[in-house]
Amino acid sequence: MKCPKCGQENPETVQFCRRCHAPLRITCPACQHAQARGEKCEACGVDFAKYAMILGLQMKTQATQERERVRSRGAVIKQILLLPITGGFSLLKFIRDRLRGE
Ligand SMILES: [Zn+2]
Ligand SMILES: [Zn+2]
Repeated sequence: MKCPKCGQENPETVQFCRRCHAPLRITCPACQHAQARGEKCEACGVDFAKYAMILGLQMKTQATQERERVRSRGAVIKQILLLPITGGFSLLKFIRDRLRGE
């Protein structure tokens, strides 16, 4: 198999070029089927470009979800931290109002 990058002749069994280490085979991310080249998996028909895009989208969604989770957790922590302050103020106000009323 000729390396598409440097033209080095390689045995059919190797997965990377012996000279420049460029990948000579593409491994399908869905079914792990290895093939020489192409945009589509010969075994399961997965479109490599589309698959990579879907994976990228999934990772992006996960990252967004993680951010949202951290943000909402931060809001809860903020509420807890503010609770003694707001609670203390309203308590003071309550006592003051009670004292004034009597
Ligand atoms: Zn090469
Ligand atoms: Zn496949």
